Amino acid sequence: MAILAAPAGAASSNQQPRNLIPPSQRERLAEFERRCAEAGVPLTSQRRTVLESLLERSDHPTVDQIYQTVVGRLPEVSRATVYRSLETLSDLGLLKRVEHPGSAVRFDGNMAPHHHFLCTRCGAMEDLSLESVRGHDELVFVGPGPGAAEELAILVRGTCYRCAPQAAGPTSSATD
Ligand SMILES: [Zn+2]
Ligand SMILES: [Zn+2]
Repeated sequence: MAILAAPAGAASSNQQPRNLIPPSQRERLAEFERRCAEAGVPLTSQRRTVLESLLERSDHPTVDQIYQTVVGRLPEVSRATVYRSLETLSDLGLLKRVEHPGSAVRFDGNMAPHHHFLCTRCGAMEDLSLESVRGHDELVFVGPGPGAAEELAILVRGTCYRCAPQAAGPTSSATD
């Protein structure tokens, strides 16, 4: 799991951001089986592996990134199959597309309401808990808008810890 916090290993975590704890993967796979059954969608190993590979990470991967993981487990799978699986899983409400300024579509397996942090240097996108934005629960979309609002989320732009380790990384041991 890659989150904003510095890499695990160093036990000290006093300044670790309070990010979402992703729902347990087992629970999500049970939900996958239930929704496939309800929708009459065959429960294939391709779809299951695509979902698993998305749930294992929190960096909002592209189709190609997911394909690289899936093809390592199911060597016969094609990129088109992975893409179709993502579409099906999206239709089933098990993942969603996420807006990203890059050209490639990104996918998000975290269906809980949350905000995003976008690194303007490397393009990494990480989840932020709702509580990471003070006053988030008072945000109300009042319109008028061009359609019905489904979600109110904030995109925080900045520099991630990997790109600016001195900014907040607790692991820096350089003294100057
Ligand atoms: Zn970065
Ligand atoms: Zn997300």
